[in-house]
Amino acid sequence: MKSILKRKLSIIIPSHNEQNNIGYLIQALTKTLTPTDYDFELIFVDDGSSDNTLNEIKFNAEVYTNVFYVELSKNFGKDNALKAGIMMATGDAVVTMDADMQHPPNMILKMLEYWENGHDIVYTYRENANPHARLYQKATSKLFYKGINMLSDIKLENGTADFRLMDEKVVKQLKLIDEYELFLRGIIKWAGFKQIGIPYTPSKRHTGEVSYSFVKLVKLAVGSIMAFSAKPLYLMTGVGLSVSLMAILYIPYVLISFAAGYAVNGWASIIATIAFFGGMQLLVLSIIGVYVGKIFMQSKGRPNYLIRSTNLLSVNNDLVRV
Ligand code: UDP
Ligand code: MG
Repeated sequence: MKSILKRKLSIIIPSHNEQNNIGYLIQALTKTLTPTDYDFELIFVDDGSSDNTLNEIKFNAEVYTNVFYVELSKNFGKDNALKAGIMMATGDAVVTMDADMQHPPNMILKMLEYWENGHDIVYTYRENANPHARLYQKATSKLFYKGINMLSDIKLENGTADFRLMDEKVVKQLKLIDEYELFLRGIIKWAGFKQIGIPYTPSKRHTGEVSYSFVKLVKLAVGSIMAFSAKPLYLMTGVGLSVSLMAILYIPYVLISFAAGYAVNGWASIIATIAFFGGMQLLVLSIIGVYVGKIFMQSKGRPNYLIRSTNLLSVNNDLVRV
């Protein structure tokens, strides 16, 4: 039951192959939050881990009454795992954070201050380039924020993290959002409310490996090629681009042929135009195709995730164990 005196925090932790970080994080969070005036629950979402993560969470759920698990049926990706947790959250505020200790638990205390001062969303962004990140991570991250800020209406700070606090009223609205390709950092920026960004310095990953390979990051950065049946459409973009490029390279040859007197009158300009615009048409068509593909995936209305097992159930806006 929600206590009348104490406000409750739901902390959502998406976890993919984090077996040696779970216990450590629970201890760190317990140490940080126990002295505060808040009740808190920790909801771990096991995102199709292939190691012992789930057992580790289940073990801790037996030990601590405020630890819960949601086991997804396979790996759905971090944003979808976050949504699974958010849908279960019952707190007066919800905090989302990584399982690997890169998001310092102490920052939550700072977020709580801003929340108490009337902010609905307190999000974080990396103060400096992550000193622990690999070169490819830094490069894709930079490119990603540049790209999204240039091509979309929202403006994200460089290094905006999935480490944030949201008031219950924001969470209530968030639960209604039904998007196939979830990008929570963008949705949060778009959502408005009274929001504030605070800088943080990421710590080193406690143990284990990052789940995002170079390829995975590039996919995320360019809008993700997750939709299996939309892949051919993406392929067309490549074809369109290469044809256009070839056409451009072809033009000097055509012009030289013309100048050297090899060509019949009018041939050069016709060939050059056909080649170039043929490529452009393919390119434009394929871009439209990508959007059609996204509409196709969205129109299926598939859920963002499927749950295999969980030890919680939300009844009258309170979590109960099952
Ligand atoms: N994660 C997840 N599903 C995935 C990949 C990652 O739930 O498919 C979780 C992971 O366990 C961690 C967080 O998302 O808690 C951030 O992932 P990671 O540390 O691998 O990436 P980083 O953000 O540090 O580059
Ligand atoms: Mg990490």
